[in-house]
Amino acid sequence: MAARVCVLGPSGRMGRAVIDAAAGRSEITITAAIDRDGAPGLGNVIIPGLVAQAELRPGLVASDVYVDFTTPASTRLVAEVARSLNKPAVIGTTGLSAEDDAALAALAAVAPIVVAANFSLGVNLLLGLVQQAARALGTEWDAEIVETHHRAKRDAPSGTALMIGRAIAAGHGSDYDAVKRHTRDGDVGPRPRGEIGVSSVRGGDVIGEHTATFYGPAERIEISHRASSRAIFAAGALRAAAWVVGKPPGRYDMLAVLGLPPAA
Ligand code: NAD
Repeated sequence: MAARVCVLGPSGRMGRAVIDAAAGRSEITITAAIDRDGAPGLGNVIIPGLVAQAELRPGLVASDVYVDFTTPASTRLVAEVARSLNKPAVIGTTGLSAEDDAALAALAAVAPIVVAANFSLGVNLLLGLVQQAARALGTEWDAEIVETHHRAKRDAPSGTALMIGRAIAAGHGSDYDAVKRHTRDGDVGPRPRGEIGVSSVRGGDVIGEHTATFYGPAERIEISHRASSRAIFAAGALRAAAWVVGKPPGRYDMLAVLGLPPAA
């Protein structure tokens, strides 16, 4: 039976991509489209027979799972309502705080949820590759990440860059939070061994680009991913939605959905 999906933020860049990706997929039916109070798209016909609404609870009740690409504040608020309904979820919103994560943990205690800062196959594959490279090369090779996104992106570094940083730290056997360097400005001194740098570039309509570079003596390795359409994230999120319905409560990542080995 097709999974009945409630999409949040149908007028947003990702919400729209999710609705477009659902067209023609027999394993997915879009049953509700919920936007925030006052959103310009409220009342719009999303697909024939379905209008964007502001009332969250009826939309969740009518669906097996909801897909959330919104804002951290909204993700937290919706998770609190979803928890009272034991509702499975697919969460793609990035820039979540510890408090937002705690709301997701509370939901995961009663329902299965997939949380991923990136739903593309390519990036999830890349996580394993950078971890393998970091393990093989060690901290003799300086690891730096550069991420580029469109000018409207709110959070920095990107959630994907943070995942890549954590994968490199796991390969080094270090604690990412202890070795990360998200900005350099002024007299920062020589680069400490084992530091993992992340630089964020913002401009134009770039959907998402990430490069992890390992700088060795007289050679370097670059591992890059470039997204040229949001359709890849939307397709991954819908795959996760169909996968998560019926799973035991808990927090899952996209590696589990794709059947890739778990991160160390
Ligand atoms: P956007 O600003 O285009 O869209 C956000 C939408 O959320 C808007 O339509 C807004 O009205 C809606 N919204 C806000 N509050 C809401 C609420 N309470 N209930 C329902 N809807 C609400 O943003 P975007 O570019 O689509 O990105 C959204 C999020 O997804 C960002 O955090 C971004 O970083 C993340 N993202 C994740 C992935 C991934 O693969 N995980 C890929 C792309 C973007």
